[in-house]
Amino acid sequence: MTTAGSEILRPTAAILAVGDELVLGEKLDTNSMWLADRIGALGLRVTRHQTVGDDNDAIAGDIERLARCNSVVVVGGGLGPTADDLTRHALAMALERLTDQPNALVEDPDALADIERFYQTAGRAMPPANRVQALRPTSARCLSNAHGTAPGLLASPQVDGQRRVIACLPGPPREMKPMFESLVATTLASLPGACAAPLHVVQVFGLGESDLAGRIEPLMRRGNNPAVGTTASSGLVTCRVRPEPGEPVRGPYRATTLEDAVVEALLEIERLADGHVVGRASTSLAGTVLHDAGTHGLTLATAESCTGGLVGQLLSSEAGASRSFLGGWITYSNEMKVRELGVDPSMLNTFGAVSRQVAEAMARGASERSGADIGLSITGIAGPDGGTPEKPVGTVWIGCHRRGGDPLVRCFRFVGDRQSIRLWSAQTALFLGLKAIRGQGVPKLLREVMDA
Ligand code: AMP
Ligand code: MG
Repeated sequence: MTTAGSEILRPTAAILAVGDELVLGEKLDTNSMWLADRIGALGLRVTRHQTVGDDNDAIAGDIERLARCNSVVVVGGGLGPTADDLTRHALAMALERLTDQPNALVEDPDALADIERFYQTAGRAMPPANRVQALRPTSARCLSNAHGTAPGLLASPQVDGQRRVIACLPGPPREMKPMFESLVATTLASLPGACAAPLHVVQVFGLGESDLAGRIEPLMRRGNNPAVGTTASSGLVTCRVRPEPGEPVRGPYRATTLEDAVVEALLEIERLADGHVVGRASTSLAGTVLHDAGTHGLTLATAESCTGGLVGQLLSSEAGASRSFLGGWITYSNEMKVRELGVDPSMLNTFGAVSRQVAEAMARGASERSGADIGLSITGIAGPDGGTPEKPVGTVWIGCHRRGGDPLVRCFRFVGDRQSIRLWSAQTALFLGLKAIRGQGVPKLLREVMDA
């Protein structure tokens, strides 16, 4: 907790990831991402992520520094039984420095019993090395681990007259997450000043991030409350609208309450992004397509060439996809395009596989042969080979056939490596599908070639 005058500000939190494998780039630190999201949702303000190797002094120094200027420090990793697991020693050292009190490691009988029970249940004897996992700094308490041997540690030292919370959690995500949820989250949520700042999003597709940022520039100015920020990924731009509770409205808003200012920001973004709006959910584009297909009672099928089933993969990754996604074809060769989708061979000879005509025929074939309401097709050159002066790498035709409607076929020139061209293609096909489901026209999209 930080106080300014009599006003209680939101408590701040720092996350410290421990492990040589993280520092050396052998393993991705996914724990910090998850923790930051959860801690933010509990109403704290995450100020810093730090990563440190398996070095006792370095870990102790980081815990100490972070605890001096944050209400909460969450440490992940280094609680295993091996010589490179140093977090409990480092915590003891940091607590001694923070409180100027001795804080030796002591064996916790309950934690030891937990570890022994864990091995008993697995039908094995506890290896002697695991005994160190029952050690805790004198002033800390152990957090029991329902999914592994390493207990967590929780300390609440007084630092410069203020209470701090330092939580050390095991590294494996399947142990860390349930321990955080069951034994740490409530403590953090009940800190004075903790106030969840709800996040609102508007997703926008096919508009350059800088183009969108230009349109909504007054909303994005630093210092605004609510603040608006954007992130972009394969054609999808996510606009985040984040109010800072307890602070006045600041920025170009007419609204005087934070709640109203959030609504104003969302409506203004939707107005300025116009036909590019996907929606207000923070789900994947495929998830939105399936949601809307479900509410409209429509079904989809796919015919993919250069994406090799990626659209089908994105759709089928969503739970409940089978309600609207019937299936699809991966038709890489011309023969399969003819045999499986009924593409006219003379069309392939005249225009080539990467063409408006073939994309349209593939989309129609997918919908007619599957019985789906909407057929989506992709045919293009993902590279790095196969480009020509007329059809360079990145040229992709995307088709959408809605039964009873006019086919929609667009040409794109995507940039980047093979994987990003494939992902952009798949996402763009999903957006065309979304617009067909909604019965809306499609504006000019980013990377679209107008005179193809
Ligand atoms: P440790 O608790 O340091 O023994 O870590 C045990 C396992 O958890 C190792 O496989 C680590 O790579 C993994 N792990 C530790 N920290 C993280 C992290 N921040 N993100 C993802 N995995 C992690
Ligand atoms: Mg480790």
